[in-house]
Amino acid sequence: MVWRATVLTLFPEMFPGPLGISLAGRALASGVWALDSRDIRASATDRHRSVDDTPAGGGPGMVLRADVLAAAIDATILPQDVPRLVMSPRGRPLTQARVAELAAGPGPLIVCGRFEGIDQRVIDARGLEEVSIGDYVLSGGEIAAMTLIDACVRLLPGVMGKLCSGTDESFSDGLLEYPQYTRPQSFEDRPIPEILLSGDHARVARWRQAAAETLTQERRPDLWAARPKPSESARKRKPPKNTTDG
Ligand code: SAM
Repeated sequence: MVWRATVLTLFPEMFPGPLGISLAGRALASGVWALDSRDIRASATDRHRSVDDTPAGGGPGMVLRADVLAAAIDATILPQDVPRLVMSPRGRPLTQARVAELAAGPGPLIVCGRFEGIDQRVIDARGLEEVSIGDYVLSGGEIAAMTLIDACVRLLPGVMGKLCSGTDESFSDGLLEYPQYTRPQSFEDRPIPEILLSGDHARVARWRQAAAETLTQERRPDLWAARPKPSESARKRKPPKNTTDG
């Protein structure tokens, strides 16, 4: 079955948006993945089709109603194994490892919040997994959902093709990626590091590994401390092609 993202939102017209162009857009057009964006408001029952109300206990803003959102979730008939997510700054931060898990599954149901957030009871009652894309607050969950979907879609078989395997990128081995260069050979008196032009694949691989380690240590001490032990990463990583001396 094709990988499918089902999105519940108050703004279905925002989709596919940026997911409709380039890599993800071509894959969507060719049926590698599918997108179903549904309007939460279609599940409102009152005359004004209201979806929100004032927060219990007082305070600013409005809260997405539990009954309306529950009805919207229940109206999506999805297999039992579909991950049920809600985008939320309070959620567990999204990682490349979680993205890879989601890409390997059937595709998630994603609820996009708005206003001050969502009535907690529907999150609990429908067992929604809260997912954050970072420690900042967006005005709605749609851009966060697009971020998650884009990260998943590029890992689906056939999407990146020969462009990139996805195994050598930032986070795939607990490290940030090494710096990249291309022509021209010299840019504003800054040459490409000579070793990258040497044609010696083993030396290039060693240079890249060292550069990735240095960058990670400098910029992300949290990742560096949590990286897989050398024995684990050696087991996971394929040796670089044409490498004779490690
Ligand atoms: N009052 C909430 C708080 O302080 O945690 C923020 C609500 S925000 C204005 C509205 C919606 O945007 C949220 O319900 C969520 O769906 C989405 N959102 C905002 N920031 C997000 C983030 N960093 N990650 C994921 N979703 C986010």
